[in-house]
Amino acid sequence: MEPAFEDQRRRMVADQLLARGIRDPLVIRSMARVPRHLFVPAGHLDKSYSDHPLPIGEGQTISQPYMVALMIQEMALKPAGRVLEIGTGSGYEAAVLSLLASKVYSVERVPALADSAAKLLRSLSVKNVQILIADGTAGWPDEAPFQGILVAAAAPRVPEVLVNQLAPGGRLVIPVGSALSQTLTVVRREAGGIETREICGCVFVPLIGAHGWKEGEVSSEEVL
Ligand code: SAH
Repeated sequence: MEPAFEDQRRRMVADQLLARGIRDPLVIRSMARVPRHLFVPAGHLDKSYSDHPLPIGEGQTISQPYMVALMIQEMALKPAGRVLEIGTGSGYEAAVLSLLASKVYSVERVPALADSAAKLLRSLSVKNVQILIADGTAGWPDEAPFQGILVAAAAPRVPEVLVNQLAPGGRLVIPVGSALSQTLTVVRREAGGIETREICGCVFVPLIGAHGWKEGEVSSEEVL
């Protein structure tokens, strides 16, 4: 790997993650390892480690590094937990998750993105990520329950079907709000019910599907 990228990645971890309060050592270690520049389109290579999302084609984006780290930290995964990710996109977040989870189940609705992410992860010898082309708002019932569920697209409300696929003590991390701005929300499933916590404001591309936005109701171009 080019030393320039390694340097940039080290700086990203220090300036964007540690400086802003990302503290989970496993999250830091994983973000320090995954070569984000391989998941970024050639035209944006020079911005691979910069502090914002980048377009990945199909009107979609790879999330800002800080947001990826924050979501994963908020999931508070126990060692060897099984994770569901909705919105594979470039496959970057799945690659980070693969270093923390025993198995990552990732659902993507755009076949071209799912295919290129799968190919890239295979070329990196990532073996514990399984990608499904489907509407992820329905979760992945055959593999439920999950210790963590991470939704990488903006939902109009928390889909109950996803809460029901959480293991006891498990957490769902999801941006909830309008198409233009959302609140990062954590839903924890406890024996006695569910506990919901709001973390911060955020902006994601829309979650489109049966339990998300209807196709045509919102456009992801609006937020790019
Ligand atoms: N985690 C990604 C970023 C994802 S951007 C990364 O690391 O690059 C959000 C992704 O969610 C987009 O690729 C979009 O196509 C996908 N998406 C939107 N609605 C979806 C749905 N209902 N099911 C699965 N994927 C969905």
